[in-house]
Amino acid sequence: MVSYKEIGLVNTREMFAKAVAGGYAIPAFNFNNMEQLQAIIQASAETKSPVILQVSKGARNYANQTLLRYMAEGAVQYAKELGWEHPQIVLHLDHGDSFELCKSCVDMGFSSVMIDASSLPYEENIALTKQVVDYAHKYDVTVEAELGVLAGVEDEVSAEESHYTRPEEVIDFATRTGCDSLAISIGTSHGAYKFKPEQCTRDPKTGRLVPPPLAFDVLHEIEKKLPGFPIVLHGSSSVPQEYVDIINANGGKLPDAVGIPEEQLREAAKSAVCKINIDSDSRLAMTAAVRKVFNEKPGEFDPRKYLGPARDEMKKLYIHKIVNVLGSNGKAE
Ligand SMILES: [Zn+2]
Repeated sequence: MVSYKEIGLVNTREMFAKAVAGGYAIPAFNFNNMEQLQAIIQASAETKSPVILQVSKGARNYANQTLLRYMAEGAVQYAKELGWEHPQIVLHLDHGDSFELCKSCVDMGFSSVMIDASSLPYEENIALTKQVVDYAHKYDVTVEAELGVLAGVEDEVSAEESHYTRPEEVIDFATRTGCDSLAISIGTSHGAYKFKPEQCTRDPKTGRLVPPPLAFDVLHEIEKKLPGFPIVLHGSSSVPQEYVDIINANGGKLPDAVGIPEEQLREAAKSAVCKINIDSDSRLAMTAAVRKVFNEKPGEFDPRKYLGPARDEMKKLYIHKIVNVLGSNGKAE
């Protein structure tokens, strides 16, 4: 049993309360490898932004949960080395699907866990979420729950049919489970293909797909029912067209990839939405940078020569998200 407090991590409680009151959101970036973690920490340290490091099921399978946890411990020390005196870093389990998994993360030093029982019937979602909350709170670990079903595919989380969160359920759910934050479904979606072309319109000037707007009416209903309660948005990458273009111009094939426009995320960040998950955008940044090197320098075979530029591109993206979309810069001096 290791407490996250001993390794310099923090939970989300105070972070979210400040973000809701201050009208900004905390970035939750997924990480799978060293270059990605370096880019996240460099971007957060430079902008003095609180940050959530997320470990998904795919990351656990790919890199190993224990290794990722020790990398997060190293990240705290690395942040201090970069001159960030009081780093506010959360290590969060993304889409936990069982009590046992959540417990194992609490026990090994995660400071926050998500239990995603949103695919279960309502009462079963409540029972499982409450079981995780009761355990996690004994160790002051915060818990994110989910109500409503997101569309799209993210690692091994996928759903064919999505439905919006029902505002009439949120008070009952939050009260009975005791969860610390709630992931809701208002039209965001996992992955780089968030919408089918037939769900979108096309911009006549650029020929690009324009996705349907987020259901801000549902968000506002939820805010009215649970004033000040921390709300989380999953599936909130914006799929920057510049990366899609670089990928496609350098031998890639990503036709009609489309995400959530940044203006809508900026608007959401000003509300009770205090955590915005970003994963696909950093995959795109990394892929664009690597493809460019391979295309322009076919003789290159030192991984540092293509993973280095990939790291720089991810860092640029993270800083852009922190400063221009979430507004969390300067909130962790
Ligand atoms: Zn998610």
